[in-house]
Amino acid sequence: MADIRLAGLIGFPVGHSLSPRMQQAAFDALGIPARYVLWETPPAELAARVAALREPEILGANVTIPHKTAVLSLLDEVAEGARLVGAVNTILRVEAANGVRLVGHNTDVPGLRRALAEVSAGTPPAGPPSTGEREERARRRVLVLGAGGAARAALAVAHMEGAAVRVAARRLAAARALLDTGPASGADALNLADAARLAETLAETDVLVNATPAGMGDPDAAPFPLDLLARLPAYAVVVDLVYAPPETALVRAARARGLWACGGLPMLLYQGAEAFTLWTGQPAPVEAMRAAISEPR
Ligand code: NAP
Repeated sequence: MADIRLAGLIGFPVGHSLSPRMQQAAFDALGIPARYVLWETPPAELAARVAALREPEILGANVTIPHKTAVLSLLDEVAEGARLVGAVNTILRVEAANGVRLVGHNTDVPGLRRALAEVSAGTPPAGPPSTGEREERARRRVLVLGAGGAARAALAVAHMEGAAVRVAARRLAAARALLDTGPASGADALNLADAARLAETLAETDVLVNATPAGMGDPDAAPFPLDLLARLPAYAVVVDLVYAPPETALVRAARARGLWACGGLPMLLYQGAEAFTLWTGQPAPVEAMRAAISEPR
């Protein structure tokens, strides 16, 4: 019998994660003898956990809160995209001539990019845009809510798409710091609690990305009062990175307004698919993975 290989999730806590069922479904669909496990890792144990990834049975790992930045200094190599974002969410174990190397990647960026492309494609529920509206939407003005790791990935995507970007966070200093260290240096920062300024900014936003956890585990919570959604242009796109619940109050309200909107499951799926391909060298069985995370828990 073939040896069982291992991949897993390094984070603290990790019990809520959908990655085990998604990645295990992918291994099983392709008949790869591998198991995906949870490696709950308090910060003091991170270095030892990463060192253990050099063992021969390991394919690689995912990395989540709170280790996405701290892990960089423990790796042999960091891919350019992950360096740009300043965060690693996937580690690949590579056998090289000079020994085993651990290489850090960031698949949140291509994952979000693919999710955004998917939700932006086609005609919005409100109907086909007029020429003027089409031109307005093509300007791709992005507003990112939050100033943490997911916001950093959203900024990288906006940068790659050549979009103008603004960041709204509950701490203005955090929004400014994020913009000063990221690729969108010099862009506008605003306080999420400043309703008047937020309303003005929403009126000039084509793509709204919620990268705060507001709404996580609470179907009625939202990052700002949802009546302000009325200020978004008619053909704006709303992406909430929160995936539990799959449809947040923000997504429901955006859809009720006739906007294209999606929750965090597509990004979760596509970042996972990219990680799977890095570990196995094979195209990910995306539909098997999608089905695994779409089933009720
Ligand atoms: P993080 O690094 O902890 O950053 C969270 C950011 O949101 C911080 O700026 C924080 O502000 C702010 N925030 C926290 N609670 C808030 C609230 N109630 N109202 C307004 N702002 C709030 O977290 P992260 O890694 O960026 O993750 C953010 C969310 O994205 C989580 O829900 C996570 O599950 C989700 N996510 C999804 C995917 C996916 O694949 N779909 C991938 C990555 C992340 P303070 O600094 O002031 O606390």
